[in-house]
Amino acid sequence: MKKTTWYFLLLLLLCPFLPGRGQGQSKPAADLVITNAKVWTVDKSLPSAQAVAVLGDRIVAVGSNGDVDAWRGPNTKMIDAGGKLLLPGFNDAHVHFVSGGQQLDNIQLNDATSREEFARRIAERAKAAPKGEWILGGNWDETKWNPPNIPTKELIDASTADNPVFVSRYDGHMGLANSVALRLAGITAKTPDPPGGTIVRDARGNPTGALKDAATDYIEKVIPPLTHDQRVKVVKRALAHAASVGVTSVQHMVASYEDIAVYSELLQRGELTTRIYAAPLITHVDDQAKLGIGHAFGGPYLRIGALKAFADGSLGSGTAYFYEPFLNQGNNRGLLSDEMHPISLMRERMMKADAARLQICTHAIGDEGISTILDLYADVIKAHGDADRRFRIEHAQHMAAKDFDRFAQLHVIASVQPYHAIDDGRFAESHIGHDRASRTYAFRTFLDHGVRLAFGTDWEVAPLNPLLGLYAAVTRATLDGKNPNGWFPEQKLTVAEAVEAYTMGSAYAEFQENEKGSITPGKLADMVLLSDDIFSIEPMKIGDAKVLKTIVGGKLVWDASAAPVRQGGK
Ligand SMILES: [Zn+2]
Repeated sequence: MKKTTWYFLLLLLLCPFLPGRGQGQSKPAADLVITNAKVWTVDKSLPSAQAVAVLGDRIVAVGSNGDVDAWRGPNTKMIDAGGKLLLPGFNDAHVHFVSGGQQLDNIQLNDATSREEFARRIAERAKAAPKGEWILGGNWDETKWNPPNIPTKELIDASTADNPVFVSRYDGHMGLANSVALRLAGITAKTPDPPGGTIVRDARGNPTGALKDAATDYIEKVIPPLTHDQRVKVVKRALAHAASVGVTSVQHMVASYEDIAVYSELLQRGELTTRIYAAPLITHVDDQAKLGIGHAFGGPYLRIGALKAFADGSLGSGTAYFYEPFLNQGNNRGLLSDEMHPISLMRERMMKADAARLQICTHAIGDEGISTILDLYADVIKAHGDADRRFRIEHAQHMAAKDFDRFAQLHVIASVQPYHAIDDGRFAESHIGHDRASRTYAFRTFLDHGVRLAFGTDWEVAPLNPLLGLYAAVTRATLDGKNPNGWFPEQKLTVAEAVEAYTMGSAYAEFQENEKGSITPGKLADMVLLSDDIFSIEPMKIGDAKVLKTIVGGKLVWDASAAPVRQGGK
């Protein structure tokens, strides 16, 4: 063989990404080829296709069945998609992965439609639980009850004398403790409200059991932490659930070091089937700053280098921080979080984080909460100069009209959860009135101003299923069925925009847009095959579509046809 031919063969071996046309025999065969799919790539250079070839963990070819055929070899695994829709894997930009996994085992109160039902379910769980075991979880939502009053410990005390109970409101900003839990936490009439928190009290000053925001820390401190083995089990449940709903990447907000240790252990054992970007609290900024790692440090399955901060609370708990008071709540205009007391403390931490090239993701919901964080971000940029920092505001729920432009100018990413919009849309106007509600989860306005969106769920606060999020963004049909044509319908997105926010948008939000987020040769082979073409079915049916197959790094991690029938759907 001539020298030049050898050179050519060598080149082919070294460059598996060369577009293969008519050189089928000298090219390595693909490990996986998917044909007959309706591929929506989220890649503007080739928006749709029919087939995809995967070599190792990467996509090597996207095109027609014919284009990709040359990649077939004797050992290539073939998937005939039968004309179904193939999308890039969903990337959930905001989850609480471990509490999500725990929730799969916890008591479920979200669909309790009365206080009696709420009390009955807790009593039932207590009866079955060993003495002393904590009863946790809940996600109760008193707005579904009549009257919609915040529950008190009297409702559950009699049936839970042997078990501490702490059940959370669905927004995670309030919880109800029974008397056993209050006693363990040492909360009495004399306990002061902590900064950024409220112990709800009756007319005589006694705690009712309801605790808001930072006050929940009193209880959380006395709940025994998960053991390592329990945590491994919980993460594995979460991984399996993520695979079953087509989530191939998650961005874990408020990850603990114990969580990261479990991820790293599972990674080493080859058992991580969801890619994870973990963001511990900004109160721990010194640790990551000391390492000098910068943002998005790690490998394709596990990265760190982000920090999660809190500006305020939530709308439903009356703790989101607004310029004007809530309606019908006296002078209450919400609370800045304990991390913001004083604001200079937050500024200092952000400066430190930015100097260490760490990414900052700040929870901010009320208009003044958001505005204050934009001020701080601007301070950081002014102090340190231009850089590709990708500051994020998590939730960005109720925007002041003046701040959309600033959001764009500072290149801040709106990391938003469309499911919250159809959930909060049930009551937002009664809390803050029409004008402020019109800028609530204002996805269209964000896009019009050139702000990048990243979609997620806030799981365990909302279901992890991305199809429900797409449904929410496209229809804005509130969960109470009262807005079938959309709550503030001018803020609806197209299916293509929503899919992009849930794939490329989230990938950009974690500095991974060159690695994932679209079905493009060279990128990681993370894809989902859906039961229905969400681009052509009735938008109201998008949430009912199912994930048939989930592929992460070229490996099939979920196959509905091989799985036992699931109960309940969501
Ligand atoms: Zn969250």
